Amino acid sequence: MNRMFVLGGVFACASALAASSAQPADTVLVHGRIVTLDAKSTVVEVLAIRDGRIVAVGAFAKVKSLIAKETRVAQGRGKELEDDKTLTQLLPMGFGDSMLRFSGIGENVAWGVYNNDDPGEASREQLYRICQWATSRGLALNIHWHNDKSAGVVLDVFERVNREYPIAKLCWTLAHLEDASEPTLKRMKTLGVGWALQDAGYFEGESQLKEKGAEAMKRLPRINSALYIGVHVGAGTDAHRVASYNPWVALRWMLDGKTVGGAALRGPEETPIRENAQRMYTQGSAWFAFAEKERGSLEVGKLADLAVLSKDYFKVPAEEIGEIEAVMTVVGGRGVYEGVKR
Ligand SMILES: [Zn+2]
Repeated sequence: MNRMFVLGGVFACASALAASSAQPADTVLVHGRIVTLDAKSTVVEVLAIRDGRIVAVGAFAKVKSLIAKETRVAQGRGKELEDDKTLTQLLPMGFGDSMLRFSGIGENVAWGVYNNDDPGEASREQLYRICQWATSRGLALNIHWHNDKSAGVVLDVFERVNREYPIAKLCWTLAHLEDASEPTLKRMKTLGVGWALQDAGYFEGESQLKEKGAEAMKRLPRINSALYIGVHVGAGTDAHRVASYNPWVALRWMLDGKTVGGAALRGPEETPIRENAQRMYTQGSAWFAFAEKERGSLEVGKLADLAVLSKDYFKVPAEEIGEIEAVMTVVGGRGVYEGVKR
């Protein structure tokens, strides 16, 4: 079986490899297809973990000096991951600050502007005061917004606040906004405001089609435009209130634009390549949590968070992506889940 290791950890520097060679790794994953999503999109065969962090990635020869008697070695090629059971048992699950962190306020911070395309002056002022308060505390802010036609309401407020206090470093974001237009995305880029992109269209595509028409739906959401403009895009699902948490279903929808009912609505112009979809789900989302240096790619120094997948996301037909499962999940170098062997 072709195993594939993906995603998690974060930060690479070549000198770290040399500096860390003196101490053996706790765990080494070998003979996998390890998709690092580093800047060069490197795919490697070996990844070494110590104290919950990635200490080396690369070819086996480079990493073999890190393997000592006590190092657990998990093999990715062959019938099974021979050691994954041992790995899971030896490394009890643990949660730390990097697992759950309060980073700001959001979703609905002022009722007057919640799902309201034409809020009055008092509601806009209230939103402004809340945003101002968030800057005074250095807090992230995530605002629920549905329609592009009224996105100017919130962006006007953001721009007003930004004139007093630059917000770009606070990771402020708009969530949903499935019909975000290019002018809106450009304003977001200028402000440094991110876009929390979700797969609502997977469930609601048919009703969006009735409202907007087939021609418009071909270009929604404007995923490639957002990436081209340079907006921070983080992918997710809005679980659990609205959708399943399942990232693979959302990734399939990003790549084939098909609703749960099977209607293919999005055209090629706004359909991302697989790597970009994966990057939105990992590095893209890490930005929203001030965690780009900690997670989002498998590089030296980043957290050893990764999954061994049942199928190779980059190679299977798009329609099979939604069925991908974790065979094993490693968090902070610790095995926390082991799925059914197949
Ligand atoms: Zn919402």
